[in-house]
Amino acid sequence: MAESLVTEELLYEEKPLYVPPLQELKEIIQSALTKNFENVTVEVGDCPDLTDPFYGLLSSGLGGSPVLLEVGGPPFLLPLVQRSKVYNVKEIVQKALPGKGKLLAIGAGAGPFPLRNTNCEGIFNMAIDEQGTLKNGSYTAKVHGAEEVCVLERIPDSDPRCALLLNLYISRGAPGPVVKVKCSKRTGEQNFVECVRKGLESHYKDQCVGMGGIFVLKKGAAHQHVMRDFSKTPLQSEEELNEWLKFYNMPAQLNAVGTLLTNEHGLDLRLQHFHSFSKSNWGGHYHHDTTPDEAEYEAYLNVAERVVRVDRPLESHQIGRD
Ligand SMILES: [Zn+2]
Repeated sequence: MAESLVTEELLYEEKPLYVPPLQELKEIIQSALTKNFENVTVEVGDCPDLTDPFYGLLSSGLGGSPVLLEVGGPPFLLPLVQRSKVYNVKEIVQKALPGKGKLLAIGAGAGPFPLRNTNCEGIFNMAIDEQGTLKNGSYTAKVHGAEEVCVLERIPDSDPRCALLLNLYISRGAPGPVVKVKCSKRTGEQNFVECVRKGLESHYKDQCVGMGGIFVLKKGAAHQHVMRDFSKTPLQSEEELNEWLKFYNMPAQLNAVGTLLTNEHGLDLRLQHFHSFSKSNWGGHYHHDTTPDEAEYEAYLNVAERVVRVDRPLESHQIGRD
């Protein structure tokens, strides 16, 4: 495995985030969602046990020194893939949140293509115990065969890798207070994540606020993409990228994990990124639900204290950040 990992010393950068009280975030999120959904309840309270099979995470909560992590970025995928960009997520997570205690890392990125012998989405759900042992509840989603079916597969405990780009919410996975959201019947144009994020952005302006966690699309369906295998021709525009991506209308239940931020914070950060898994063959990158009348969301989000940026692409662009 080692030969396919990035071996040079990776650049780590870090900045504090602005951390508003959960009660204040609750008010802002509630008012943003009310403009976009008919039924909305937002409260601050103890996180439900996220190891319940309904949620499927590897730790019960989202508490304990929460940090957002971004590794790499779309410039390593586009216009052409940089195959050397395979990372050891476990090591990076341990370095991003050092010290004693277990770790939960959840979020969205590119899956370890050497494992599948093809490019794939990564839906990350990793727990590292106090001894440093990785339990990997992550998945890859890939486009398979001539029929281009979506295939969702578990990543084994023995594989700690991702590729190219990654956005994680990391914490001790401890129980504790979170912002709890329930909303249904979408009446506006914004997708769930965008609505929360833009609400925060318009309130906090230049102060950078970051959140992460899980949302469940309980009813309806969602427009989601899965990356096809690496393009052999350079992808130069958003249009060429969208031709290359395979889009599906995936039915609920979809459990999405990821991060959102109000601005790039001088670190060239991706502002929102959620990937979902399911109990069927479906998994991929969330864009929006396709069933406004039926759509029903349940979410648990916590606010991060800082952001860690690893291996920031030195030549960047804005393609592929939707
Ligand atoms: Zn994605």
